[in-house]
Amino acid sequence: MASRVPAVSEVVEEARRLFEQNFGSRPEVEVCAPGRVNLIGEHTDYNDGFVLPMALALVTVVVGTRDAGRSVTIVTANEDVAEPRRVEFQMPNDGSPLSPGQPGWANYVRGVVQHYRASPLPGFKAVIASTVPLGGGLSSSASLEVAMYTFLQQLQPDDGDPVAKAVACQQAEHTHAGVPCGIMDQLVAVLGRKAHALLIDCRSMEVTPVPLSDPSLVILITNSNVRHSLTGSEYPTRRKQCMEAASVLGKGSLRDATLEELEGARGRMDEVTYSRARHVIQEIQRTVRGSEALKRGSYQEFGKLMVESHNSLRDLYEVSCRELDELVLAALEVDGVFGSRMTGGGFGGCTVTLLQAHAVDRAILHMKTTGRYATGLLLAGSSGAVPRAEGGHRRRPQG
Ligand code: ADP
Ligand code: MG
Repeated sequence: MASRVPAVSEVVEEARRLFEQNFGSRPEVEVCAPGRVNLIGEHTDYNDGFVLPMALALVTVVVGTRDAGRSVTIVTANEDVAEPRRVEFQMPNDGSPLSPGQPGWANYVRGVVQHYRASPLPGFKAVIASTVPLGGGLSSSASLEVAMYTFLQQLQPDDGDPVAKAVACQQAEHTHAGVPCGIMDQLVAVLGRKAHALLIDCRSMEVTPVPLSDPSLVILITNSNVRHSLTGSEYPTRRKQCMEAASVLGKGSLRDATLEELEGARGRMDEVTYSRARHVIQEIQRTVRGSEALKRGSYQEFGKLMVESHNSLRDLYEVSCRELDELVLAALEVDGVFGSRMTGGGFGGCTVTLLQAHAVDRAILHMKTTGRYATGLLLAGSSGAVPRAEGGHRRRPQG
């Protein structure tokens, strides 16, 4: 039975209710920030490369009020996080640091408070409610950081620079969540706009909107509902391997390396490092070509690049998994599908499929019945919106 993704107003209503339950008053500030799906350009952002994400109608909402003193109390409505779901701490004064602590989820809030670009910040009470699946590769983390930052802007305005805001949120994730992420997620959460993907140059931070408003086109997001536990250690390892490859090539980053240069240096690096670098160099090229193809309406070409991207993530970068591979293969068997790939960091999470609108129901059915692992939340979206969810969101098996 198909069900709707809740409208933002419904998420705000849920957050308001929880706020009233916890604090006995109405919140004065209500903000939100979107999750995102990356159409192509995976593991390129921390290599100074290009990415092509799109903001979603899946959002994180923060509602709250300023506190008279320095105390901060936050409650999350999300039941997928470790207890407790209510956290209190003191807003540090005189610029002293706010260290990470327990529970882990609150570090996304602490980090944003720490890196906020204006002072002094008052204490506050806030409730978080969200429709972005946690750990599903749709960037619930950046959407929480950016929503939190936007909330703080209402309490103590900063200079309003959107790129600096994204960078502050990225810093929060680095220092407080311990994830050395690139800038893509935060930038699209700040700058994403309806009916557009964003081509982001992660070196210059230049953002070019790419229109995506063809009504005959649908972007289908499929959640494998698995999240393998190796994610934590594998991400920094990949990052390190990329830096090693760049250093062997005598480059500041893989953005500046060509395939010819990589081939020439193959004897001077191990096979794994070579494969990682090969993925990144080619993926950066695919992303630029892909954005051009989308602008021209060449969906066949874009779809082909998506498949190349998936295969490269599977074979060279080794961040896919059985469940994601099966979902992609199933999608590609359906008439009207242009292309499909894993999206996000990998080892579980979601796939993204570009297809003709008339093929959506067929694709969903086929992916559900063919893939042994294809379960749970299936989202159909187009034009930067996600109008429909199908199936329940199951708990993810680990392993
Ligand atoms: P992704 O960004 O792909 O969803 P991450 O592992 O980067 O996955 O971020 C997920 C983490 O972000 C969660 O485990 C939790 O700590 C935090 N988080 C995201 N959204 C919320 C929320 N609504 N409430 C509390 N914590 C959240
Ligand atoms: Mg994240």
